[in-house]
Amino acid sequence: MTAVGERTELLGMPRERLEGWFAARGEKPFRARQVLKWIHARGVTDFSQMTDLSKALRERLATEAVLRLPEVVGDRISADGTRKWALRVDAHNVVETVFIPEARRGTLCVSSQVGCALDCTFCATARQGFNRNLTAAEIIGQVWLARRILEQAGMGTAALTNVVLMGMGEPLLNYRNVVDALKLMMDDDAYGFGKRRVTLSTAGVVPAMDRLREELDVSLAVSLHAPDDALRDRLVPLNRKYPIAELMAACRRFLDGKHRKHSITFEYVMLDGINDSVDHARRLARLLAGLPSKVNLIPFNPFRGTRYRRSSDAATARFAAVLQDKGITTITRRTRGDDIEAACGQLAGRIRDRARRARHFARVEEMFRAQSA
Ligand code: SAH
Repeated sequence: MTAVGERTELLGMPRERLEGWFAARGEKPFRARQVLKWIHARGVTDFSQMTDLSKALRERLATEAVLRLPEVVGDRISADGTRKWALRVDAHNVVETVFIPEARRGTLCVSSQVGCALDCTFCATARQGFNRNLTAAEIIGQVWLARRILEQAGMGTAALTNVVLMGMGEPLLNYRNVVDALKLMMDDDAYGFGKRRVTLSTAGVVPAMDRLREELDVSLAVSLHAPDDALRDRLVPLNRKYPIAELMAACRRFLDGKHRKHSITFEYVMLDGINDSVDHARRLARLLAGLPSKVNLIPFNPFRGTRYRRSSDAATARFAAVLQDKGITTITRRTRGDDIEAACGQLAGRIRDRARRARHFARVEEMFRAQSA
């Protein structure tokens, strides 16, 4: 719980925490439901306008609680309709959120950390280093703002149908805050997104995957990118800590866990001459055999200074064909918003990098210890 001076930030509090907060003040639990509706479903942040609360309670909220949203400091719209917001979360840090409209759905790609500690070699966010975790309020604040802005643009509250935690950061290294924000996304009195419409994407933080499996019923995407440890160690350095066999075992546990899943989505960035051969595809198919999975092939999105190139369309099609031939549903993700640097792996924002990249592993372990404590 974040206190602002004496006041408590309520924006990121899921129902049970809000109930506890009201209970501590001698208020009935249903106050939490009323306040959730006002804040998230109706978008009201001024306590005095919450008219089904007594005047005394409204005044008390105004003195003891606060609702603070990130500040929109950038707003760009791509030729394809993709929209990217830059959100200032404190004096030094700006994160990015992307809205991707499609024919039958609108997906919001949400950030979970300021920067990222994982150092995947093909990702622009990694270049920035890691600064800090976003609070639950800063994570749900992205959804709050997108809903309001799209509504004001005349698109209605229905424009936003799906949320993916595929923005900046590794969500499972900010476990508590991410889970609190996910609970709000899925709460019928807040945003009411169903479990198939909320996807958490991870590079494979195995212990946190096990924890998530027990705690929350969301869809899971795993950033795999390579069929063997030698290659994955190079692309996703976290693999040295949680190698492929352990990751696959965790995926199996996730599928058979408390909330049974139909499948897990595996993301695979297509890097020319690195991981895109027919042999890689065959080995990937073997790795996924017997595991209910979908594969999402992501054309590599270049950024300044990268040494990687995007695989050719022909190589990508060949790769997809091998997987499909083995009965694995394979979708090649269409690149969206690359003209405004809003595509996968291009999100950067502005951050003050306190943890230099050389120390990122110490940092990862430290974060993991902190969140599992
Ligand atoms: N840390 C989490 C969340 C980030 S999701 C994770 O790794 O899953 C962002 C997705 O875009 C990941 O699958 C990531 O591997 C992919 N990605 C990163 N850089 C990319 C790039 N330059 N081009 C295409 N995809 C990229």
